[in-house]
Amino acid sequence: MECSKLAIRMHRIHRETAPGEDENLSRDPAIQIANDLDAYWMPFTANRQFKNAPRLFVKAKGMHYFMADGREILDGTAGLWCVNAGHCRDEITAAVAAQAAELDYATAFQIGHPKAFELARRLAALAPGDLDHVFYVNSGSEAVETALKIAIAYHHVRGEPGRTRLIGRERGYHGVNFGGMSVGGIGNNRRQFGAGLAGVDHLPHTHDLEHNAFSRGQPQWGAHLADDLVRLIALHDASTIAAVIVEPMAGSTGVLVPPKGYLERLAEICHAHGILLIFDEVITGFGRLGAAFAAERFGVLPDLMTIAKGLTNAVIPMGAVLVREGVHDAFMKAPEATVELFHGYTYSGHPMACAAALATLDIYDNDGLFARAASLEAYWEDAVHRLDGAANVIDVRNIGIVAGIEFTSRDGKPGARAYDVFTKCLEIGALTRQAGEIIALSPPLIISEDEIDRLVAMVGEAIAATP
Ligand code: PLP
Repeated sequence: MECSKLAIRMHRIHRETAPGEDENLSRDPAIQIANDLDAYWMPFTANRQFKNAPRLFVKAKGMHYFMADGREILDGTAGLWCVNAGHCRDEITAAVAAQAAELDYATAFQIGHPKAFELARRLAALAPGDLDHVFYVNSGSEAVETALKIAIAYHHVRGEPGRTRLIGRERGYHGVNFGGMSVGGIGNNRRQFGAGLAGVDHLPHTHDLEHNAFSRGQPQWGAHLADDLVRLIALHDASTIAAVIVEPMAGSTGVLVPPKGYLERLAEICHAHGILLIFDEVITGFGRLGAAFAAERFGVLPDLMTIAKGLTNAVIPMGAVLVREGVHDAFMKAPEATVELFHGYTYSGHPMACAAALATLDIYDNDGLFARAASLEAYWEDAVHRLDGAANVIDVRNIGIVAGIEFTSRDGKPGARAYDVFTKCLEIGALTRQAGEIIALSPPLIISEDEIDRLVAMVGEAIAATP
């Protein structure tokens, strides 16, 4: 069957059958034929392995996905750390539909539309401190590129054009574009793509099982690792360094929770040396850690903050960079007719994305989802630590509504065990995220205590069934 025919078939399934109604779907050969799936080159996926045993979601609602075979899957990962308010929220759907009918698109270059300004005001009000200015982009990766460029340009407009060096961190993930890949610290993401940006260095990551295994919340050990920045400053000289970028909690490389005092120390060193601190809050933004942003939770104010994912509940792609007053104002000193930043995207501040984001912020507000996440944290922590003694598990760690479960590797096959746990979970009925030899959990913030128990039980069952 050709792809288009498969798509029609999938559409028919989506429209005509409610979940669980048609048991025969699981035996439908049309969905199982690998060749039908050939044209789509899937991102961050072992394509041939996937296409030999495809997994297709066709519908979602609330805490659940529904698979092409009609099975209900408890969403243990909020899609990809992004559907914080749960799936297919009517308020967002209606806002996007209305916006599409009213103003489908407006360029952001020299023209505006009201919702872009309204959303910026709402985000500035939500963000801590004087992170009062908003630059729109379309993804987390673009947010990172934009933040790095703003940081370098900031020093340029201030008369320190020599500050171009960027410091990232090992095991950091900052998206896939050249800047983000370069400051990121994941070997696999860099290996195929040459040297990346020049003038980049990395701090060590903070994950050390000898000291931190089975931590509940922030580990006690590791604040001193921030002092490595002093070494890098001595090596390169502060006058060459534009910015340090870190995820307050590293998500994609398997939930690395910042040690107590670490982020505070990093901020202190940055500020002492005129180096901008960028928090990449693409994952940690919008309630994931029980506050609007990790910056708020940890009480550490960065100079720039990148956001995306939960900004629109992932309904329409959108990201942004939040910028502190002083950084923004440095650009506003040239004559009025000056374009202050030669940067932007065709879809910056897209009307539909703005409509989705405004509706999403209303839900977060009306449902009190950030406070809800905070109040669920202790229950979540106790639940995930029931996995502490499970087979092959060498660490369970948590913060906010996030957990990482790390396994010993099979000989010569790093990641294989976690992959098997991930596929087993899906078979049993739970979506989890594999990151190397780690399973990450980050469900929508609407999850109930009962669903937390079910999620953890399914993960436990999958671990027990995985040699
Ligand atoms: N930064 C962080 C911290 C992320 O976790 C991600 C994605 O997971 C990104 C950037 C990249 O975002 P996107 O995939 O939307 O480009």
